[in-house]
Amino acid sequence: MKMLNSVRAKLTALYVGILAFVLIAFAALTYFLVVRVLADTADENLAEMTRNFKTALAAERADKTEESSFENDVREAIDESRFHDYVFAVYAADDNRRIASTSDNADLDAAFLKTAAPSYSLINTGNNSFRVHAVPLESGADKYRLFVLYSLKDQTDFLERLRSIFFVAVPLALLLSGLGGYFLAGKSLAPVVDMSRRAATISATNLHARLPVKNEKDELGNLARIFNALLERLEGAFEQLENASEQQRRFMADASHELRTPLAIVRGESEVTLAKENRTAAEYRESLAVVHDESKRLTRIVEDLFTLARADAGQFRANFAEIYLDEILSDCVRAVRVLAEKRNVSLNLFINQEMPMRGDEQLLRRLFINLLDNAIKYNRAGGAVSIAAEKTSENYRVTVGDTGAGISKDEQTKIFERFYRADKARSRNETSATGGAGLGLAIAQWIASLHDGKIELVSSNETGSVFGVAFPIRKAENSNRTRIV
Ligand code: ADP
Repeated sequence: MKMLNSVRAKLTALYVGILAFVLIAFAALTYFLVVRVLADTADENLAEMTRNFKTALAAERADKTEESSFENDVREAIDESRFHDYVFAVYAADDNRRIASTSDNADLDAAFLKTAAPSYSLINTGNNSFRVHAVPLESGADKYRLFVLYSLKDQTDFLERLRSIFFVAVPLALLLSGLGGYFLAGKSLAPVVDMSRRAATISATNLHARLPVKNEKDELGNLARIFNALLERLEGAFEQLENASEQQRRFMADASHELRTPLAIVRGESEVTLAKENRTAAEYRESLAVVHDESKRLTRIVEDLFTLARADAGQFRANFAEIYLDEILSDCVRAVRVLAEKRNVSLNLFINQEMPMRGDEQLLRRLFINLLDNAIKYNRAGGAVSIAAEKTSENYRVTVGDTGAGISKDEQTKIFERFYRADKARSRNETSATGGAGLGLAIAQWIASLHDGKIELVSSNETGSVFGVAFPIRKAENSNRTRIV
């Protein structure tokens, strides 16, 4: 509020400042123009009066009805030239003798005589000032000077009035326009004040609130729109943050739930075994085997959790190198052979070409082991798993198909979620050491995307499921095709 008020004051001050400059310049200009015009008019009038006097004098001189001296004619002419605002006076040039004058002001006499003729000049006498036109007059060898004076009293009075009008009018105009400006600035800033007041009420609990946009096209409407867009983004980010922390919370809950089960088995098994004083070596061996299996399972879960946590934090350092996908697939098949034999599941691998690509060998191995592991685990006894890899124009495509019971429709969308297991009891009871925590497919998906690839459930029904993984083939790998290892 304080700041807005000061913007208001600043605007008003600026406005009044500019106006003061304009008004003072205008008043000064007007005043000096008037002074100039008055002075010019005064001089013109003096010249006119001088001409009139000379005409009158010439008429006197020409009047032959009476014999008259030049000085007498001058006196006659002066008598005729009495005009209200003007003073006429004639002096002899050599001895400054006054011949005639329409004024008997002695101060003027002294002042006249100091002025040279011809000239226009100013004379100040006490409380009055005059404009004087001094002109030489001649009659034969005798020389005289004619002075025509015009009292500047009216002009001075007028200028004084003009000055006092300006001195009152300019500050008054500035005061009024300052008030007007302050009012206008306040009025145009009012929506901003309103907006800031509303914006101040927006917090995390009502991020959905928006500022009203009165006119989309004006600056304030634009500001409100931009502000609303900012709120929109903020709200989105906030929601994401809330979702993320909700996810984090769920992740923690699920993780501890998954860890609790094997821990409970280890504890129960050891308690039961230790409860009896004496046990046979075979009994100890048996329960240690259970403890071993469960700790293997725990290790796997913890490793998976660790991988996902680092993947989420963006801290996972993948080890990318030139690798051969076909070799990795063969290795993976070899690695799960024991498990497959144990479950009486046959493994069939179909690859007929080399598949060089850039990737992280460890991670890709993990991806396919997870898929193969599932294909064996969720298969029926005596079933089959087939792995096929082919090259299309853009991708390497690997499919892992099994002859298991399939995944129901509503579960198909969820299996890639973390901790999701279709039938929790089933997987845990069957082989506890290999039964995962529902993280296998989530990790596989992350690894695929790390390689710009995609993983999907291609099909699934009661006779089996097919998972597909595709990696894009980059141009460089195309030209590398003939490489021999
Ligand atoms: P898990 O550790 O339980 O195997 P996964 O993320 O690998 O976790 O798989 C999630 C769930 O998807 C499994 O619990 C299982 O119910 C289902 N699933 C995965 N692969 C298959 C498959 N080949 N056939 C049937 N169900 C499968």
